[in-house]
Amino acid sequence: MNHSTFRAHNFGAGPAALPEAVLKKAQAELLNWRSSGMSILEVGHRSPEFIEHIANHAEQSLRRLLDIPNNYEVLFLAGGGQSQFGMVPLNLLARDPNKRADYINSGIWSEKAILEAKRYGDIHIACDCHPNQLTTIPKQSGWKIRKNSAYLHYTDNETIGGLQFPFIPETDLPLVSDMTSSLLSRPLTVSRFGIIYAGAQKNISAAGLCIVIIRRDLVGHALPFTPTLWNYQTQCDAKSLFNTPPIFPWYLASLVFDWIHEQGGLTVMEKRNQEKAARLYQVIDESKGFYRNPIAAEARSMMNIPFSLPTAALEQDFLEAAKSQNLVNLKGHKLLGGIRASLYNAVTLTSVETLANFMLEFADTHQKHL
Ligand SMILES: *Cc1c(COP(=O)(O)O)cnc(C)c1O
Repeated sequence: MNHSTFRAHNFGAGPAALPEAVLKKAQAELLNWRSSGMSILEVGHRSPEFIEHIANHAEQSLRRLLDIPNNYEVLFLAGGGQSQFGMVPLNLLARDPNKRADYINSGIWSEKAILEAKRYGDIHIACDCHPNQLTTIPKQSGWKIRKNSAYLHYTDNETIGGLQFPFIPETDLPLVSDMTSSLLSRPLTVSRFGIIYAGAQKNISAAGLCIVIIRRDLVGHALPFTPTLWNYQTQCDAKSLFNTPPIFPWYLASLVFDWIHEQGGLTVMEKRNQEKAARLYQVIDESKGFYRNPIAAEARSMMNIPFSLPTAALEQDFLEAAKSQNLVNLKGHKLLGGIRASLYNAVTLTSVETLANFMLEFADTHQKHL
């Protein structure tokens, strides 16, 4: 095996696989970025080069990918996905004199967002998926959304549980969505949302960056004690350059956006992602109960597929055997256990086929010994 070119089949949930072409481009220009004689890691974030070729380029590129309307701001912020668990309530709750906000609880990430929001306001769970063991998203007719809340928050794709919304909720409230593990996996109607946010290390870039797409009328309502840096107004005014931003993840994100354009855009991503997910769910469903994924068909995640085997010992064997074939980062989240395969944009169909074949073989060998 040639060590410099060896690449694993990486099914990690985040930090996760990045497109090989993007890593090669970053490698090729690491020592001398755009003939500057400097690495991107050494370039000032207020230099005209950074602003033109990274900040402006990344924003324009993302705007084209998602067809983001002009009345939306695009922010590239430090702090990761969870920074928004606090930033959203701090910036929006004051839109309602009673500081009310409504949340959908669809799993572990929703719960964390709810817990943080409760520190600042009156938080109501408009719909809880726990009575259905987090296996389905209840129909919206049964939800109890309060009329005058400041916003409605939901987690589009629960990265740990593998439960994904098969629809965009209908509401008159500004709709806020945590899309950390699903943004750019398929086309999206941005105008349906008040805020979309995504930590970048799942499907977009390296850790440390959070992308926030926010409708302009929602900016400027922060609670008085909101930290300056966490005020959307500050960040919009400063074009995400109020303080030193996470330059490298921002740069990588811009390369990933270019890469998606080159691949044909988000419709192509969606088609590939559907094909990859369908292949794994097929192996699971045809395994006669050897592999189990409990999620209702219509709410199964396209990005993160958790599954279990008949015993914990078999799961351990599975992980070890997979690793010996370069199929890595398949261990489920510590809160859920089991196995999880994450199939972000950068995970190739070849990697998924290799995993599917491994799963078929593993089931075949071990099923008869049960
Ligand atoms: C990973 C993840 C987060 C947390 O991201 P951090 O960058 O680690 O804060 C939040 N929400 C969802 C849906 C995630 O998958």
